[in-house]
Amino acid sequence: MSMRPQKRFAQHWLKSEKALQEIITAAQLSPEDVVLEIGPGTGILTKELLKTVKKVSAIELDQALMKHLQEKFRQKDNLILIQGDFLKLELESILREKPNKVVANIPYNITGPILEKLLGSIAEPNRKYDRIILLVQKEIAERICAESGSKTFGALSVRTQYLAECELISLVPAKAFSPPPKVDSAIISLTPRVFPQSATSPKLLEKLVKLGFANRRKMLRNNLKSVISPEELETILKKLEISSMVRAEAISVFDWVRLANCVELRIPSRIRYKHSST
Ligand code: SAH
Repeated sequence: MSMRPQKRFAQHWLKSEKALQEIITAAQLSPEDVVLEIGPGTGILTKELLKTVKKVSAIELDQALMKHLQEKFRQKDNLILIQGDFLKLELESILREKPNKVVANIPYNITGPILEKLLGSIAEPNRKYDRIILLVQKEIAERICAESGSKTFGALSVRTQYLAECELISLVPAKAFSPPPKVDSAIISLTPRVFPQSATSPKLLEKLVKLGFANRRKMLRNNLKSVISPEELETILKKLEISSMVRAEAISVFDWVRLANCVELRIPSRIRYKHSST
């Protein structure tokens, strides 16, 4: 059976032993772990996971690969293979044992939706997993882990860092895969947690972040005009000791929460959601 990588499934087989070991180390596996793997491919990572953990549930979209995996891991009784689209499956009703970790080299074309399914959103966080180790496109890893004030800091950084502790573990060059993707990759670790400063209205925080970064060249007060008047915002920024000329990318995640909490106190929800599309 040919296991030629299919472009339409974003298939790139990891071949670097070094990267593989870095993923395994980052996952801090224990014999009690129940691991969810998205897109096992030919099973290179799956095989490593199975050596240590109690159970691996692996979701693979490609039917041809599924047959290959079933054959390859015939003897393994701690592996559950599920054929289907990770984004569409209702795992709660399929898996008897709830995974506590996610370890995966994911298909890059659906990174955003995968992250959202794993972490939830600011308004509806998902803290089902203790630890999530993913191999993603390097640019995305950098955006997720960026600090405020840097060029890559954006809505994705705020959202992800609000929901989880984010760490860039290491960079993985394109040549670590066969065939090499057009981009370099990176291993990231996401540890879902309750953010130390919680938003009194997570929905409002979500909205402000989305609007705040909508036009990166504009100052925050212009991007948020539809929710709060520039004068009102200036008063809040002053209180938070932030410049009234600030742009979204200069505001730390902490300050985003404080900002949203102040806006919440000042603007009645009736007005706040007047122009809302959410
Ligand atoms: N983990 C493997 C393969 C990575 S390539 C390795 O490291 O070598 C990404 C894998 O995700 C492919 O096997 C692809 O078929 C699978 N995939 C693509 N879209 C998917 C989806 N929506 N749900 C589950 N698996 C998917």
